Amino acid sequence: MFLSTDMEGTAGVVDWGQVRGPAQEYEYYRGQLQAEVNAAIDGALAAGATEFLVNDSHSTMQNLRPDELHGRAGYLSGRHKPLYMMEGLDDSFDAAMFISYHGAASSTSSVLFHTYNPRAIAEVRLNGTLTGEAGINALVALAYGVPVVLISGDRVTIDEAQPFCPGIESVVVKESVSHNAARSVHPETARELIREGAHRALDRLPDVRPPAIALPAELTIRFHNQAFADLACALRDVEKVDDRVVAIRNDDPLHLFRTFIATVFLSRAVTD
Ligand SMILES: [Zn+2]
Repeated sequence: MFLSTDMEGTAGVVDWGQVRGPAQEYEYYRGQLQAEVNAAIDGALAAGATEFLVNDSHSTMQNLRPDELHGRAGYLSGRHKPLYMMEGLDDSFDAAMFISYHGAASSTSSVLFHTYNPRAIAEVRLNGTLTGEAGINALVALAYGVPVVLISGDRVTIDEAQPFCPGIESVVVKESVSHNAARSVHPETARELIREGAHRALDRLPDVRPPAIALPAELTIRFHNQAFADLACALRDVEKVDDRVVAIRNDDPLHLFRTFIATVFLSRAVTD
């Protein structure tokens, strides 16, 4: 079982100050995230899963405590991973889960919504449909033929993932009120829902297919300004659509993802 874990989609989280360290608030919420990740592992364990790899995918990607991970999960952490939020996935995995994910850049009212680099990316579409990180990351799962079986976060995040991962088991832990406000279930309820969701997801595994993304696929990226688009066009297979928009078309989902990630890294050179 492969788990890609973000942080903005954890029950109770509504503010950047809660998901960026060092800060007292962050220390509290990283514990909440850890408990949600463990709940997913517990549910999968109960359904018969035996091996786990957790790829920490939030911010500097070192938010969890390895010795506190359930299921003797392996822990992939730290920055500058070529496959970023999907680093570590390959065709040896039976299933993937997206825990504590958040809404896409240009979402309406999803807590802390963004797509990879909020300072550069205004919107991403995959085959014409608005996508957040879940849909983009699903390209890697498609490349390796691995079904994405569970996603947790607010309702907007889940609605945005559905077109690319039809039938995905969805756990809504909060309803966003705005980009900085949400009504969350109690953390214990969130963990229960995630645990049950993970169990159900694996029970249904024989019926779940890898992501449904028609190939060749097209990613279009709208940047906040032209400089990012110009930079992205330095990459092979990236074409300018208009001043701020570029398109990447390919029949290899992994190549598409890698090229997208390269545009993210390039944009970070300007914004970080
Ligand atoms: Zn994050």
